[in-house]
Amino acid sequence: MTASNVQTSHKVQRFTESVIRDMTRQAIEHGAVNLAQGFPDFAAPEEIKRAAQLAIEEDLNQYAITWGAKNFRAAIAQKFREWQKLEINPEREVTVCCGSTEAMVASMLALLNPGDEIVIFEPFYENYGPDAILTGAVPRYVTLHPPKRATDDWSFDVDELRGAFTPRTRAIIITTPHNPTGKVFTRPELELIRDLCVEHNAVAITDEIYEHILYDGAEHTSIATLDGMRDRTVTINSLSKTYSVTGWRVGWAIASPDLTSAIRKVHDFLTVGAASPLQAAGVAALSLPRAYYDDLAEKYTERRDLLLSALLEVGFHAYVPRGAYYIITDISNFNAGDDRTFARRLVQDVGVGAVPGSGFYRHPELGAHQIRFTFCKKIETLEHAIENLQKLRTTV
Ligand code: PLP
Repeated sequence: MTASNVQTSHKVQRFTESVIRDMTRQAIEHGAVNLAQGFPDFAAPEEIKRAAQLAIEEDLNQYAITWGAKNFRAAIAQKFREWQKLEINPEREVTVCCGSTEAMVASMLALLNPGDEIVIFEPFYENYGPDAILTGAVPRYVTLHPPKRATDDWSFDVDELRGAFTPRTRAIIITTPHNPTGKVFTRPELELIRDLCVEHNAVAITDEIYEHILYDGAEHTSIATLDGMRDRTVTINSLSKTYSVTGWRVGWAIASPDLTSAIRKVHDFLTVGAASPLQAAGVAALSLPRAYYDDLAEKYTERRDLLLSALLEVGFHAYVPRGAYYIITDISNFNAGDDRTFARRLVQDVGVGAVPGSGFYRHPELGAHQIRFTFCKKIETLEHAIENLQKLRTTV
C-alpha cells in the first residue's frame, strides 16, 4: 500500500489546522510583527520563574498525581474561594490539565455523547469547533452581534439563544471575557443562561482564562456562583494568560465531584498529567497579591488604548474590548478584499500578522470583513506594529 492510500479518520477530515497558529507561522516567515496569536513577548513574573527553577533544582521531575499536585489543587481552591466566594473541595472538584485547551476537550469528551447538542456563541475561540467534532457533539451556534454604539458591548438575541436549546442540549460553552470580541458577559445575561441550563438540565462549560484582564470597570462573574449552577458548571482556567506563561501548558477544570470524576478519567488517559515542576510554580503564581492583578489590568489598558487609537487612525472600524487582549476590527472601509486576502497582504506587504475573522465563525461570511489583532505585547513591539500599519495608507 502506498502512502497515498493511508487513511485518516473522518473526524480529522472535518477540520483544518488552526488559522491563528498558521498566521503566527506566516508572521515568522515574512518577518512581520506578530499580532496574531495571543502570547506575550514580555517576561513572566520573577517569583514564578524562580519557583519553577527551584522545583526542578529540587528534583520535582516525575509525574505529579494525575489530577494535579495536592498543593496546586489546594491553591486553586483557595483562589476560587478568595475571588469567587465559592467553597470547592480540591480533593474531589479540581482536575489539573495541560492548559485550558485540554481541560475543555477532556470536559466535552467526559460529558457529551455523539449526537448531543452543545450551544456555542459565534464568533468563538476556534478550538471549540474541532473539540465538538472530536466529541461527536452537534454545535448549535448563537450569534454575538457587534455593538452599534461605542458604549455598548457585543450582544445576543434572547429568542435566538432560547431557540438554540432543544431536548438534545447537554451543554453550553461560555467564554467570559470573550475571545475574539472582548465581550464580558453581564450577570443578567448569565442568569438567563442559568435559567436555560436548569430548564434543559444542561451543563455550562465556562472558559474564564481572561478573568483578570478587564477594562473600564467591567466585572467578571463566574456562572458557577449563580444559584442553581454550582453543580452544573465546569469552570475552566489556566496559568497561560493571567501569568503570561502560555507555553507552560498548565490549566484546570473545577466541577462537582460527579463531573470531576468523569473529567479525570478522560484526562488520565489523554495526557496523564501536566508538568509537575510547573504545577509547583503555579502555587507561587496563585499566591501573588491582589496588586499583581491590578497591575496586569492597568498594563493591558495602556496597550489596548495604544493599539486601538492607531487602528482607528489608519482607517479600521474597531470594537472596544471590555476584557481579554484582542481587538476585533471591521475592514470594510479599506475596500481591499475579504478578511483572508486582507490578512495575507497585512502580513506580506505591511509587516503585521493578524487573524482573519472568518476563522472565528461557523458561518465564515459573518467574519469576512473582520480582522483580529492582539495587544499582549511589549509597548515597543506595538509601536513597531503601529509604524508598519502606517503603510496601510499607501499599500492596501
Ligand atoms: N481559551 C481561550 C478563550 C483562548 O483565547 C485561549 C488561547 O488563546 C485558550 C483557551 C488556550 O489556553 P491555554 O493556553 O490555557 O490552553
